[in-house]
Amino acid sequence: MGNASFDLVVIGAGPGGYVAAIRAAQLGLKVACVEQRGALGGTCLNVGCIPSKALLQSSEKYEEARHGLEKHGISVKGLKLDLPAMLARKDKVVKDLTGGVAYLFKKNKIDWINGRGRVAAVGKVVVATEAGEVEVNAKFILIATGSESMPLPGVEIDEKQIVTSTGALCLPQVPNRLVVVGAGYIGLEMGSVWQRLGSDVTVVEFLDRITPGLDGEVAKQFERVLKKQGLAFKLGTKVTKATKTPAGVKLTLEPAQGGDTEILECDVVLVAIGRRPYTEGLGLESVGVQVDNRGFIRIDENFQTNIEGIFAIGDCVPGPMLAHKAEDEGVACAEIIAGETAHVNYDAIPGIVYTAPEVAGVGKTEEQLKEDGVSFRVGKFPFTANSRAKATMETEGFVKIIADAETDRVLGAHIIGPDAGTLIHEIVVGMEFGAAAEDIARTCHGHPTLNEAVKEAALAVEGRPLHI
Ligand SMILES: Cc1cc2nc3c(=O)[nH]c(=O)nc-3n(C[C@H](O)[C@H](O)[C@H](O)COP(=O)(O)OP(=O)(O)OC[C@H]3O[C@@H](n4cnc5c(N)ncnc54)[C@H](O)[C@@H]3O)c2cc1C
Repeated sequence: MGNASFDLVVIGAGPGGYVAAIRAAQLGLKVACVEQRGALGGTCLNVGCIPSKALLQSSEKYEEARHGLEKHGISVKGLKLDLPAMLARKDKVVKDLTGGVAYLFKKNKIDWINGRGRVAAVGKVVVATEAGEVEVNAKFILIATGSESMPLPGVEIDEKQIVTSTGALCLPQVPNRLVVVGAGYIGLEMGSVWQRLGSDVTVVEFLDRITPGLDGEVAKQFERVLKKQGLAFKLGTKVTKATKTPAGVKLTLEPAQGGDTEILECDVVLVAIGRRPYTEGLGLESVGVQVDNRGFIRIDENFQTNIEGIFAIGDCVPGPMLAHKAEDEGVACAEIIAGETAHVNYDAIPGIVYTAPEVAGVGKTEEQLKEDGVSFRVGKFPFTANSRAKATMETEGFVKIIADAETDRVLGAHIIGPDAGTLIHEIVVGMEFGAAAEDIARTCHGHPTLNEAVKEAALAVEGRPLHI
């Protein structure tokens, strides 16, 4: 390629970087995107959102065929798990989608430079490619290098017996005993996959609750549901050491606050204690780009770092580490670079756990509002009273809407139940438009739908649900 010149060079082709590249190209900029992986799409498409959802879907079907169809009057005989076929389907989904991004790059005339990039100076990125170093010059640089799994001291990852989420997406056999370290959404999703496929799963969590950040009431119900499904929890417990043995792995556990240790033996350990920004070898220090004390790149309201012309978005900057947050930042940042005004509404970013039932939340939790001293009203409606949930026999969970006590404006919503991740978007859109709970309550909802539970929760904010 030799030396090349662009308006914008993006480092990293995850949902933040590739979407920013497409939006910038739509706005007429000449764009290059540097990506070190052999495929586009970043963590999300290759080893994150997409393969995990593919396995969640397959394992849910297996679980349903084993235990869920009889009540519908359907009996299944000779059911068999073909794990290689299940993993191959997941790989095909990934391949199709990453290929789709390559198509979009071609369509938008974006140059993909396959190699590892580093910021050499303002306006200059040097890429180590298979064919040697390439210098890429651009008016603007956008860093979208994402994140990596957080390591756990005393526990060495080999991606076979002691794995991160990446290894957990391709275990060649169903482990008899799986220990998941960390009760965040990644650990619980992957724990659910392998539990459905036959593993005995124990989740070890440092805190005394699961899914920190989720509404407390939802988290409690979530824990109860997962326990009913067969997952075991050791909360308030830390893992201090992992020792590999011929038979598997021995984990040393200790109460979070210190005390007597115990040994937990298993076949596979999944370390899922969080993710950290990935900025290694990017040359940030040499150009003077500042990071905070946790390694996240500091940016201003226009996604610009402290160095003019160098921007950053996605998992490598502060905020929720979610693909759609990275995408929205990518769009807004590209628009700002192209001279437009744009922003991201961080108060209306949904978070979803794709277990069964799903768990979803947006905006503030009761706990946060109490801490902020905001007075609010809560409306709740259980799926046991929703006709569609009754018909599908998926009545676990509830919808909870939190509205400002004075203005009735929706401040947050939290759902555990069937299709929670889809249902939440009705409220996300409402919040974007500054909806009051009454606006949702007075909106005509189709019958019989799960969305009627959202309407009823909004009615319940005013103390007048109809079906309970
Ligand atoms: C198992 C798992 C499940 C997940 N599920 C969900 C989900 O359901 N929903 C959701 O919203 N989020 C989910 N996430 C999180 C989501 O994947 C991330 O939030 C998202 O990918 C962040 O996007 P990004 O563009 O910031 O970075 P990434 O997707 O991490 O992409 C960054 C890219 O930059 C490349 N790169 C890094 N450094 C360099 C360099 N120097 N030169 C060249 N290339 C470089 C990397 O190879 C990578 O491809 C999940 C994550 C995991 C691990």
